[in-house]
Amino acid sequence: MNKKGILVVVSGFSGAGKGTLMKRLVEKYDKYALSISATTRQPRTGEEHGREYFFMNTQAFEQLIDQDELIEYAKYVDNYYGTPKAYVEEQLNAGRDVILEIEIQGALKVKAKLPETVLLFITPPSAEELEKRLVGRGTETMEVIKSRLRRANEEAEGITGYDYVLINDDLEECVDEMHGIIQGEHCATVRNSDFIEKISNELKGIMKGE
Ligand code: ADP
Ligand code: 5GP
Repeated sequence: MNKKGILVVVSGFSGAGKGTLMKRLVEKYDKYALSISATTRQPRTGEEHGREYFFMNTQAFEQLIDQDELIEYAKYVDNYYGTPKAYVEEQLNAGRDVILEIEIQGALKVKAKLPETVLLFITPPSAEELEKRLVGRGTETMEVIKSRLRRANEEAEGITGYDYVLINDDLEECVDEMHGIIQGEHCATVRNSDFIEKISNELKGIMKGE
């Protein structure tokens, strides 16, 4: 059996509920490793260095790029965001499913590099609900909210490039759906080539002894 973990990329409009969903997923199912990204954006109230992100200045971020320590990186609304390589590789090799919560350009770069990655897109049930959640979160100015909605408008065109779309209406239902998709992926034939070869050889062996 292939014991390596599955790499899952989660994207979705800002305010769709990705952070809320991830938090609930790891609380409910104690089996996922969440990658922590590096970013040059300022921490929001309540965010901690090393928990939500590794917050750093542009110079430090560019050093990570130069030293090839990121799986991917992208610029999103004037800030850099990137995925540190070491943790992801270590967790996948240990057999844990790893979740990256990253935007669409980064997601497509990961899929191009590692085609067995599962891409999930999270969306609220409507555009009106998205705006309501962004305003309700109360962490951005109206100007930043407008630029995030503009960005959402562009991102909507990329949804069909994802493997799955998840509508985050009822949070618990969405968490369970996400868990079901990832666990189902463990049974994909491409992820079980070693087992398929093993059982085929065993059957050949039995036939020889007939
Ligand atoms: P993202 O990480 O995608 O930017 P957040 O997780 O910060 O989004 O969620 C944005 C806002 O929407 C938060 O105030 C959060 O409490 C709320 N929210 C998340 N999921 C739901 C849901 N299923 N129903 C209603 N509100 C939600
Ligand atoms: P936020 O500022 O709301 O935390 O994140 C803004 C966007 O950056 C979100 O769409 C989030 O998924 C994305 N993001 C977070 N970390 C990374 C990363 O490591 N790489 C890329 N490409 N995007 C990221």
